[in-house]
Amino acid sequence: MSAQRRVDIISSDRTPPCPRCGQEGLLQARVPHGWVNASGALVQGRNGVVLCATCDADQPHAAALITWFHVNGQVEVGAEHEFKRLLVAWAEHVHVPLLDERALTEEAALWQEGEL
Ligand SMILES: [Zn+2]
Repeated sequence: MSAQRRVDIISSDRTPPCPRCGQEGLLQARVPHGWVNASGALVQGRNGVVLCATCDADQPHAAALITWFHVNGQVEVGAEHEFKRLLVAWAEHVHVPLLDERALTEEAALWQEGEL
């Protein structure tokens, strides 16, 4: 399975507030996640993740991105490359608020048993 993950930035003038602390978020990204379930099928999904200057400050990869925002304010033309590099690094390590994997597993089991 490819480890490559494409991250979509949801660009908006109004980044939603951080779901953890309620402060204004720096950016919102849709981060794909996927895993191979018990039956060998790739399960994929996308979760919206808000980068928060407060809650994510302790996370190494998030910290670099937060610093970038502090320095640059916003993404300017010509700066995308560095921004994307930091963004991808963050997305690779971001803790995606996971779906209930056990529920999914149970659902997959039911599926296999023909219950669904
Ligand atoms: Zn927060």
